[in-house]
Amino acid sequence: MSDECQPATLVCRIAGYDLATLDLDAINRAFDAEVRAGRLRYTDASWNADRANVGAWLNQAGQNINHIHPCNACDSRGKTQVELAGRASFLRLFRFLRAQPGLEALRVEYLAAECGVRESATIVGKATVTTDDFTGGRLWDDAVCYTFYPIDLHNLSPEGVEIQLLEEGVVPTVPRRALLPAGSRNLLTAGRCIASDRLANSALRVQATCMATGQVAGALAALATQTGIEVEELPLPMVDELLLAHGAIIPERQATAGPAYGAMSPLSTV
Ligand SMILES: Cc1cc2nc3c(=O)[nH]c(=O)nc-3n(C[C@H](O)[C@H](O)[C@H](O)COP(=O)(O)OP(=O)(O)OC[C@H]3O[C@@H](n4cnc5c(N)ncnc54)[C@H](O)[C@@H]3O)c2cc1C
Repeated sequence: MSDECQPATLVCRIAGYDLATLDLDAINRAFDAEVRAGRLRYTDASWNADRANVGAWLNQAGQNINHIHPCNACDSRGKTQVELAGRASFLRLFRFLRAQPGLEALRVEYLAAECGVRESATIVGKATVTTDDFTGGRLWDDAVCYTFYPIDLHNLSPEGVEIQLLEEGVVPTVPRRALLPAGSRNLLTAGRCIASDRLANSALRVQATCMATGQVAGALAALATQTGIEVEELPLPMVDELLLAHGAIIPERQATAGPAYGAMSPLSTV
C-alpha cells in the first residue's frame, strides 16, 4: 500500500430537479465562492480537484461523482474517519444546492451505507501481481482466474483519475500465490486485498476479479479440508475441476495465445 490511498466515494442517487432548466454557470460560480471561503470542496461534487464542476454531479444524479479524501481505511479508526468525511461532504453539498435556484426540491433517493473504498491494505503475498504483469497479460504458471479492467487510479489531479487501457487481446491472470500471505500456511485472501502493486491493484480491484478470487479461495479451502493437502500444494488440475464444476472461467495455462477479446471501452471508470 502506498502512503496516500486513492480517494473514496460516497455513492448516492438524487432527484427533484430538471437539469435543462438550471443555470450551471451561476451555480458553479456560487460553488466556487463557497470553496474559496472554505465551506465546500471541489471534490464534493466532482472528481475535478481544481475547479467547480457541479454539473458533473447533477448530470449523473450523484452516483460515484465525488472524491472523499484523505482516505486511509486500513484500520477501524481510518475507516470511521472516511465515513464521517463522506457524510459531511454530502450534507454540505446538499445544503448548498438546495439554496440554488431550480434545486429547491432536490431530494435524496439513495445514499450508500458506507463509502466505497478504492484502496487500502493489500497482503504481502507469495507472489505479487505487478503493473507489468497486468498490462503484459502475464499467464502465471499457477494462474487461477482472469482479471480484466484498465489501470484506473483516482487521485487529486485536475481530472481526478488516470486511466490506462489494456491493449487489445490482453487478459491478465491472477496466480494462486497472490491469494496466499507470505510465510503463511492454509491462510487465504480474496478481493481487493490480494498481493498486487498499486497500479495493478487499481485495475484488479473490480468486482469480477473479487468474485473470481473469492470463488478460488472457497474452492481451495474446500479441497484442503477434504484432502488434508495445504492450499499451496493442491494439484491445480484438482482445483480446476472443482472450479469448472461450478461454472468458473479458468485460465488456459497451456494456451499459446490469450482469449480473443476485443479492446477495452474507454467509457468506464469506477
Ligand atoms: C465508488 C466505487 C465504485 C465502484 N464501481 C464498480 C463497478 O461499477 N464495477 C466493478 O466491478 N467494481 C466497482 N468498484 C470496485 C469494487 O466494487 C471494489 O473494489 C470491490 O467491491 C472490493 O471488494 P472487497 O470485498 O475486496 O472489499 P470491500 O467491498 O471494500 O469490502 C471490505 C469490507 O470490509 C469492511 N471493513 C473494512 N475495514 C474494516 C474494519 N476495520 N473492521 C471491520 N470491517 C471492516 C468494510 O466495511 C467492507 O464491508 C467500485 C469501487 C468504488 C469505490
